Amino acid sequence: MAERFKVGVIGTGYVGLVTGACLAHLGHRVTCVDKDEDRIAELESGRVPIYEPGIEELVARGAEQGRLTFTGSDGMADVVRSADVVFVAVDTPQDEDGSADLSNVAAVARSLGKTLSETERKTPLLVVNKSTVPVGSGDYVSMLVEEGMDESAGGETGERADFLVVSNPEFLREGSAVYDSFFPDRIVLGAESREALDVMRALYEPVIQQSFPTDLDPRPRVAVPFVTTDLASAEMIKYAANAFLATKISFINEISTICELVGADVTNVAAGIGLDERIGARFLNAGIGWGGSCFPKDVAAIRSIAREYDYEPILLDAAVTVNERQRRQVISKLQRDLHTLKGKRIALLGLAFKPNTDDLREAPSLEIARALDARGARVVGYDPVAGKAAAKLVTGLKVVFDSYEALAGAHAAVVVTEWEEVRSLDLKRAAQLMEEPRLLVDGRNVFDPAAVREARLLYRGFGRE
Ligand code: NAD
Repeated sequence: MAERFKVGVIGTGYVGLVTGACLAHLGHRVTCVDKDEDRIAELESGRVPIYEPGIEELVARGAEQGRLTFTGSDGMADVVRSADVVFVAVDTPQDEDGSADLSNVAAVARSLGKTLSETERKTPLLVVNKSTVPVGSGDYVSMLVEEGMDESAGGETGERADFLVVSNPEFLREGSAVYDSFFPDRIVLGAESREALDVMRALYEPVIQQSFPTDLDPRPRVAVPFVTTDLASAEMIKYAANAFLATKISFINEISTICELVGADVTNVAAGIGLDERIGARFLNAGIGWGGSCFPKDVAAIRSIAREYDYEPILLDAAVTVNERQRRQVISKLQRDLHTLKGKRIALLGLAFKPNTDDLREAPSLEIARALDARGARVVGYDPVAGKAAAKLVTGLKVVFDSYEALAGAHAAVVVTEWEEVRSLDLKRAAQLMEEPRLLVDGRNVFDPAAVREARLLYRGFGRE
């Protein structure tokens, strides 16, 4: 049987809660800590504060089996004292200058140091950083833990409990976070000590060997690559992965604009190039571009890191410029057929930054809704889960709870988020409900243009007409 560990997870957001619940499913004893007392109260009463497929069942099962518990900041010291491993999964938002704001990570590191200085341990505590942090943060966290220890010991630096810092960047995708945690493409670990890597390998053994019980997976269960490296390289892998994916989308978006100019269809072009194994078919969907809680902030952070070293990251700068241009293209496509937007009713179909999540951080819908509102349009949005929260963020955005209600009387509709519900829209019914010119701007290129035209709607995609 795989070795079982006592685990603390600090931060119960998309990453922390999913990590905690999955580790509990593997048989570890997990306590999740959050400074947000309301969030902890919700979790303790059996409610899950995020929308993520499969998470409710997993949390309920973990709690029922007594392997998953929750506590607020006042319980953190107890968790740290008894834990073998503590994961740090707090938010690292974008600062005004584009760099990552590490204040939450720093607060956790200092408080870990304080508890460690008051604790006798037989084995070193593993401090595992899952938050996305700039290169060099592993050393920075070590320094802050030590500072916390020194402060607590009144500056005395005698015999102290031991700890080891590990970087374990997270690659889960919101919308399939549970699935991605159980079936990752790889697990990346950065550490300076062999001992730390051995413990992490044992902790993740059921995932690496794909030996845990599950009814989730349709894939053949093959061993998951376990990549071990130094701290700085592990931290860099995370930024490089997200920067690459964002650039891949901006690349196909650049091609899509050129396709429009020359009369080519970008979906056929993407299919044609994607068959080349060096390119790969995934992440080649042209449209309104990337958003969300990770790509914008991680690309901003790596650009900011480069500039710290006087290096101009021109490729990454261009990826951002193309992305901004895609959003503006929504407005120009609407203007092309509606001419003025004043007084026009425009339906936004989908508001979350991508399907199967309630996350609205850096969602394109918000920027588009604000731009339309500023131009005098009447903006009506629909999203299966993120509607209420979106209405609070954009004045001038009216949120309804059915896509056909959004379409009633609309002069144009924009496909912003390709929820299954949006993809399977009854186009004929949409045409009956809408007003001339019955324009559909397909921001995700999910509809067949011929089928849309047959339903008597006017179709405008990205990189195809
Ligand atoms: P989140 O905002 O959903 O959750 C963070 C949680 O940490 C919040 O509940 C907050 O209250 C808590 N927190 C903050 N400071 C704390 C403290 N001092 N003590 C206790 N709790 C504290 O964030 P997230 O989306 O889960 O992201 C967490 C980290 O993981 C970020 O660095 C992010 O870049 C990275 N990441 C996120 C994703 C993703 O898809 N969301 C994917 C990979 C990596």
